[in-house]
Amino acid sequence: MDIPVLHRLALNESPYPPLPSVRRAMQRAVAQAHRYPQFHPDDLTERIAAWCQVTSDRVMVGSGSVGVALQLLRTVVRPGDAVAYGWRTFDAYPLLATMVGAHPVPVPLSPDGHQDLGALLAALDHRTRVVVLCNPHNPTGSLITADILSAFLRQVPRHVTVLLDEAYVEFARHSALPDTHALLDSHPNLLVLRTFSKAYGLAALRVGYGLGVPDLVARIRRQQLPFGINAVATAAVKASLRAGSELRRRVDAVVAERERLRHGLLDLGWRVHPSHANSLWLHAPDPVDEGAMALTAAGVQARHYPGEGLRVTIGSREANDAVVAALASVGRPEASDRRAPNAPADEAVSAYLRVSG
Ligand code: PMP
Repeated sequence: MDIPVLHRLALNESPYPPLPSVRRAMQRAVAQAHRYPQFHPDDLTERIAAWCQVTSDRVMVGSGSVGVALQLLRTVVRPGDAVAYGWRTFDAYPLLATMVGAHPVPVPLSPDGHQDLGALLAALDHRTRVVVLCNPHNPTGSLITADILSAFLRQVPRHVTVLLDEAYVEFARHSALPDTHALLDSHPNLLVLRTFSKAYGLAALRVGYGLGVPDLVARIRRQQLPFGINAVATAAVKASLRAGSELRRRVDAVVAERERLRHGLLDLGWRVHPSHANSLWLHAPDPVDEGAMALTAAGVQARHYPGEGLRVTIGSREANDAVVAALASVGRPEASDRRAPNAPADEAVSAYLRVSG
């Protein structure tokens, strides 16, 4: 018998439906659906640029941030080139690399769930055109701090474009969060990806954007599909930008729930590193496969990587309580070999700084 899904926590979506003001804006746009949107999304680009406090020649809009990533790859990658990324990561990266005829180069994460920046640097060669970093990372929620990112960028050769995916950045509260705007001028090979799918809760509408220096942005824009950003999505994004403070309160609530859920799971004995995204990562050797079965039986859909981990999106309070209740029914994870939750991350950070200066 199929168990009904009560809580959808598998895709790192927002638990909140669009705000009433955003829904009204979408309804007005629906009434005009016989009209084309702009040939290129210039108005929306300007609005996003003003909101980011940059000139509009530093912004380009795409069909989700995944669409922007594909446009970048189409711009800089030739068949036979290589695209490197920490693995595991967002599933789209190996697919996008293959779509443009590149060799995907997955570089294993460090055991504490961080992207191994030293190993990524070592994996770059004359064939590499793009290296992807996710910050915060999917699925582990780990964070690359400002000093580490700067050290990495200084060492990446200029023929390699750094695709810095910040899909979850609005959920990060760390004092050493990189100021990526400030990095753009000194790194013309950097493209920062952002999205309205996560913190802004518009995943179905497919709007993301990239930030970079004008020369790179102009080249990527040449890959823009005419009429590619639909008018309903454009209206929703513009209305969301007007509702910034309401949306920020929602993000704060998700962050508070993330911390509550994490402590609930730590109390049950699960190893859960601090997360800077809208999800938590449970990982082997904790009993993640049993955990996945218990969640399914409780009607909670999470992302299960068999034998490896479980990524649980932060949901409503009720959904998060259902996660704790379900995982409480799994045998208490072994308490041996348990270290303070922050220790492994800090070790990885200092090890990287020691080698990279
Ligand atoms: N980047 C990361 C790291 C993601 O996890 C996701 C979606 N899960 C995306 C990008 C895709 O976002 P979008 O909806 O903007 O295409």
